[in-house]
Amino acid sequence: MGLGRDPEDVVTAIKLGADIFDCVVPTRMARNGTLYSGKLTSSFKFKSKFKKGRLNIGNKSFKKDFKAIEKNCDCYTCKTGFNRAYLHHLYKTKELLYYRLASIHNLKFMIKLCEEARSLILKI
Ligand SMILES: [Zn+2]
Repeated sequence: MGLGRDPEDVVTAIKLGADIFDCVVPTRMARNGTLYSGKLTSSFKFKSKFKKGRLNIGNKSFKKDFKAIEKNCDCYTCKTGFNRAYLHHLYKTKELLYYRLASIHNLKFMIKLCEEARSLILKI
């Protein structure tokens, strides 16, 4: 439904009562080098070290960044040790593996964001 460009947009939609999302944006963003990062706080606000919760893996700053995309992410990409530097390399060289790994992370990120929102709503 066109949401998902910014994780914060999804949080805002949830606050307004939306409970079903269907959008190609997380995988499209992944394919174009944008990876999501951040989390929902207990006060239902989205926080991230990166502007709008998005990092552009093509940026030079990730060339020697050997951290996972997201520290506590349990997606296949992050938990099996694919780091930002390697993903930067895969993205720059247009390796097909990049597109799959990035899409896996962004989809899992959105699933986790909605699970956190659901959990917070149930505590209200
Ligand atoms: Zn991940």
